[in-house]
Amino acid sequence: MTRPTTADEAWGLFNSRLFNHGKEETMRNSFNIALAELFSPPAPADREAGLSIADLQRAHVERQEEWCPDQKPDLSFRGNELGGECGEAQNVIKKLERERHGWRGSRDTVEHLAEELGDVIHCAVLCAITAGIDLEPAVISKFNGTSEKNGLSTFLATPAKGCAP
Ligand SMILES: [Mg+2]
Repeated sequence: MTRPTTADEAWGLFNSRLFNHGKEETMRNSFNIALAELFSPPAPADREAGLSIADLQRAHVERQEEWCPDQKPDLSFRGNELGGECGEAQNVIKKLERERHGWRGSRDTVEHLAEELGDVIHCAVLCAITAGIDLEPAVISKFNGTSEKNGLSTFLATPAKGCAP
């Protein structure tokens, strides 16, 4: 059965249940079941595929082996690579700000900024791999430490042990 995602779909499910199971279920039960399915959290299979930092790190380790197994870039190379990508993102930001101010000069797009920020994330992961850092717990620890230091209530959940790449 397809999980309803709108009130109309829940209503359709309710009517369907009533039609198909009217003899076994009361109207109230049918409606309650349809409502519960509408407001229940989606099952894991229904959720959109996500990406954890640990998944990303594992994928980069795997791809690195495929890409150049005999040539492992060192931390100096990876650090320069990260700096280069930060610079590319900053250059796009500069052009976006130039446009916002209405100043003369070349323009850029938010889509291009998204691409460059993606490069920054990938290069940060590659630095972590090269330095032997398990990045996901480091990112969570840093985020939670900042929340705690500033008296904020938003914290990230700590991942289950045994998930490190
Ligand atoms: Mg780039």
